[in-house]
Amino acid sequence: MNRYLFTPGPVPIPNEGAAALKSHREPGFSVQFEKIQGSLRKLMRTDQPVLLLPCSGTGSLEALCLNLIGPGEKVISVSCGEFGLRFRDIARSAGAEIIPVDIPAGQGVRSNHVLSALERYPDAVALLLTHNETSTGVMNPLEEIMGSVNERGPLVLVDGVSSLGAMPCFPQDWNFDGLASCSQKGLLTPPGIGVVWLSERAWRSLEKGDRKRGSYYFDLLRHREYLEKDNPQNPFTPPVSLLATLEGSLDLILEQGTTEWFRKKRRLAETFMAGMISMGLEPFVKESAARSPGVSSLLLPSSAGKVKDELLKMGIVVSGGQGEMKGKILRFAHYSDWGWPETCLLMGSIFAALDRSGLKPGPEYISQAWETWKKGEK
Ligand SMILES: *Cc1c(COP(=O)(O)O)cnc(C)c1O
Repeated sequence: MNRYLFTPGPVPIPNEGAAALKSHREPGFSVQFEKIQGSLRKLMRTDQPVLLLPCSGTGSLEALCLNLIGPGEKVISVSCGEFGLRFRDIARSAGAEIIPVDIPAGQGVRSNHVLSALERYPDAVALLLTHNETSTGVMNPLEEIMGSVNERGPLVLVDGVSSLGAMPCFPQDWNFDGLASCSQKGLLTPPGIGVVWLSERAWRSLEKGDRKRGSYYFDLLRHREYLEKDNPQNPFTPPVSLLATLEGSLDLILEQGTTEWFRKKRRLAETFMAGMISMGLEPFVKESAARSPGVSSLLLPSSAGKVKDELLKMGIVVSGGQGEMKGKILRFAHYSDWGWPETCLLMGSIFAALDRSGLKPGPEYISQAWETWKKGEK
């Protein structure tokens, strides 16, 4: 039986790539590396270097913290879920004194949350934000938040692990200072490549030696130095076989155009949610503007586990809740290059799983979803 991954990473890969093994010191590697650089810059609308590190998303977050946060420094950590808490823990383990700002699960961060913390703690050196909180299915309005943050304030470091590639995420246009992401979510590649971007201001602070260089493997200045050689490369052996897939997936996104690609993600998420509401399910994120185009979450307080198991029997792999939401919600990802047919496959299976769990889903879901899908046509 085929298995379908609807989990928010790893995601199904539209192009398997040629798992062609190269030496990471041969000229062909540099050509590929440079092409991937160009594609990532286009996706992120930046002229700054984009570092590729051999790690998962957590490694990229740690790279930001170890390079830009020193022991005893004050860091404002705004969290609306499990990944916000993880970013906070990483900063704490880099020695930071944490100023926590916690938003209830299922709600998004707002400018006023950030502004009041910035006013109270003018000596903070960094502000940590999550772009897309995968554990709850919330996308935070980063562009709006950044619009009200003073450029001379603390360095703004963003977890973009589950946003980059799937939704607009423009670190330079929006003025943040550090972005951490990785390959296995919006970038449609197996796990193993971390992505890190820094602003000019953050690079300058590293160059001046203001910051302690807290990591050897993740020393970002060293990574940039290798990237800027005539034959760009990594200081250490990168996951060579994955780069071919990353190259192909970026081609796929850029060929369709980022605007169109992002629009497709949102259309999928809205279509799916219309079907779910019609079945009688409750979105976990109440405010529709805060719902992520990458991950949809549904509240199923007493039957999430049962429904997930029923789906698994059908070859449909989905994610449950994490932390305090464990056993209470189910999460469904829309990262892959999917459309109406795959969404029907998922919705039909959910209908059957709910029915088998005694939940009596509403039967009109397909026509409701189809109405929404049609509305999303250009
Ligand atoms: C998946 C995820 C992470 C962790 O990434 P790993 O690749 O599992 O280390 C961090 N933050 C967010 C928002 C995520 O979605």
